[in-house]
Amino acid sequence: MPSPERFAALQSILRRKPAAVEPTPALEKIWASDVFTLAKMKAALPKEAFKSIQRTIREGGKLDASVADVVAQAMKEWATSRGALYYAHVFYPLTNLTAEKHDGFIAPQSDGSAITEFTGKLLVQGEPDGSSFPNGGIRSTFEARGYTAWDVTSPAYLMPTPNGLTLCIPTVFVSWTGEALDKKTPLLRSNAAMNQQAHRLLKLLGNKEIAPVNSSCGAEQEYFLVDNAYLGLRPDLQLAGRTLFGAPPAKGQQFDDHYFGAIPERVQVFMQDVEHQLYRLGVPAKTRHNEVAPGQFEIAPVYEAANVATDHQQLIMTVLKSTAKKHGFTCLLHEKPFAGVNGSGKHVNWSIGNATQGNLLDPGHTPHDNMQFLLFCGAVIRGVHKYGPLLRSVVATAGNDHRLGANEAPPAIISIYLGSQLEDVYNQIRDGELKGSSSGGVMQLGVDTLPEFPKDPGDRNRTSPFAFTGNRFEFRAVGSGQSVAGPLVAMNTILADSLCWVADQLEARLGAGESIESAAFAVLKQITQEHGSVVFGGDGYSSEWHEMAVRERGLENLRTSADALPVLRRPEVRDLFARHGVLSPVELESRYEVYAEQYILAIEVEAKLALRIARTQVYPAVTAYLGDLAGSLQEQEAIGLSPSRAMAQEIAGLAQQLLDKTAALEAALGSAPHGSEAHMAHCANSLLPLMGELRAAVDALESLVDDGAWPLPTYQEMLFIR
Ligand code: ADP
Ligand code: MG
Repeated sequence: MPSPERFAALQSILRRKPAAVEPTPALEKIWASDVFTLAKMKAALPKEAFKSIQRTIREGGKLDASVADVVAQAMKEWATSRGALYYAHVFYPLTNLTAEKHDGFIAPQSDGSAITEFTGKLLVQGEPDGSSFPNGGIRSTFEARGYTAWDVTSPAYLMPTPNGLTLCIPTVFVSWTGEALDKKTPLLRSNAAMNQQAHRLLKLLGNKEIAPVNSSCGAEQEYFLVDNAYLGLRPDLQLAGRTLFGAPPAKGQQFDDHYFGAIPERVQVFMQDVEHQLYRLGVPAKTRHNEVAPGQFEIAPVYEAANVATDHQQLIMTVLKSTAKKHGFTCLLHEKPFAGVNGSGKHVNWSIGNATQGNLLDPGHTPHDNMQFLLFCGAVIRGVHKYGPLLRSVVATAGNDHRLGANEAPPAIISIYLGSQLEDVYNQIRDGELKGSSSGGVMQLGVDTLPEFPKDPGDRNRTSPFAFTGNRFEFRAVGSGQSVAGPLVAMNTILADSLCWVADQLEARLGAGESIESAAFAVLKQITQEHGSVVFGGDGYSSEWHEMAVRERGLENLRTSADALPVLRRPEVRDLFARHGVLSPVELESRYEVYAEQYILAIEVEAKLALRIARTQVYPAVTAYLGDLAGSLQEQEAIGLSPSRAMAQEIAGLAQQLLDKTAALEAALGSAPHGSEAHMAHCANSLLPLMGELRAAVDALESLVDDGAWPLPTYQEMLFIR
């Protein structure tokens, strides 16, 4: 019998009915109904203004001031006709969250009346009082305020509450002196850098008409749902987003009956509610299913331009969280809410392409396409090898460390999986000759076609952090609670850098009179010889790989964020971002400082919380139970029984351990060294292990102490009841 509080929670859950939602509306009725789409703009704007907007979206750059006024007017009319009285500049600070600055359209008049007003200036430039957003010291050394400006490539939309709508405008957030304070600005810059270099290479390959090259992203979001009734009894879930204590349930995920099993009705009703909202916001939600762990689920949209996909990904996280509340759930986006149970990631599917050449990571059907593909894909291989530690650092968070570097997917060592056939093609190039797989003869790059590569997901290697999946790469090390912007910035930038190198090499060789085929072959050969060691098709979880990767391949195993975040300070990383105009050294250093601070903060909050729960909830329950137990033992002895004292002694021993470990943890919390790198290392190597030892004592107590006295909802209760 659980404790009275847990029993009450359980009863309230069993009485729950699925929350009523509107019956599924017709897709064409709701699709993007709350978005100020291009179609709506076209209908509302004079021809010239619309053309100008289209051009800005396609080619980037600044929106003309007079056009901005016209667009603002049309946007306001659309929003107010729907009942919106406020607009918000939405921006993406370095916290992985979404931030908003709300303002009214209202403009009081001298005659006492009020009208609505919205100008181009208000659209393209707002002044959020953002002084409390983390900025790593940028604004204390420059200017205190920052401003937000509409990112024309991401459409405005209406965000509903039961009391009305707010016009939301996706914006960049920069300081007055132009430093990026957000995640969107570098994403746009990285895309521009990649476009510039891709354009060079495409031109060298003889393409005549070349449309702007854009990166695309489709992010698969994993999450947990826990009933709200349990949240109030779990301060760790409330404040840290993960359980700091909890013994594994008798029935874990070992049965694998949850994965792709039937979705529980209450959850499906929640999912449908989420999807309807996302459709209204123009987010193309496409996939829903149970994930590996009990209580774990996934939602994935159809891929879109990386910039829009990133904004939409933030919306997905927001809508998941707010909708969960409506349905009596809490949505956990933490990477490891439950120890010993599968964690949550966010697979970031990424490709690049344009309107004229298509997806540049798609092998294609002609010899020319194949050569082009091998060069673009080769550029990715080179980039991942040269900047693997950077890719590790952009997924370094306190939460994600519980997946990476622990014995869970994927490992902290960044390698590439290509699939056996494509790996074989590159190996042949490395060895100097491309053999045709069908005829057996020698193939010529740019003349013969490659064999078709399988796109079958069954062929995929699930243990690789960075896998080629037929026409895109899948970066699997991204954390479930993270913004996808950082990983996309890193991928776009390392690709820009490699494409630049490839183009330089080709230019030199073509200049010396070589044919494009022979030049391309030589460049690819060099890439495979110098960077082929990053390609790995085996089991990424195995200890042999961890050993071999480091010792034989020279790859780095950056186990914790404390190891990985300082990569942002390495000279080669600083130069990479500066060279391509993505982040200045000042901007990069500020990012390092913010992320280091967040890591430290997350772990210290958890440590304090663990201390508190252990002392104020667990210890009193344990000692009270021990008192009862001792009394009962005495009573039994008084009537001549000789009961075993072993269990009472075991509990007493663990209670003592609990006290010792809390004392040690408290002492460690108070002795943090100065300097961010040392402080992070202290968190990783001292606080976390001590928290683990404290947890071991508490979890052992959980299985010995009377269930009726145990204060914390158990894993079984939280994971299986809904
Ligand atoms: P999985 O088997 O990994 O779950 P899915 O078919 O569900 O794969 O696709 C995962 C994500 O990859 C989806 O968001 C999908 O739209 C996206 N995706 C598909 N093709 C591309 C591409 N060329 N570029 C980027 N993302 C893509
Ligand atoms: Mg998937």
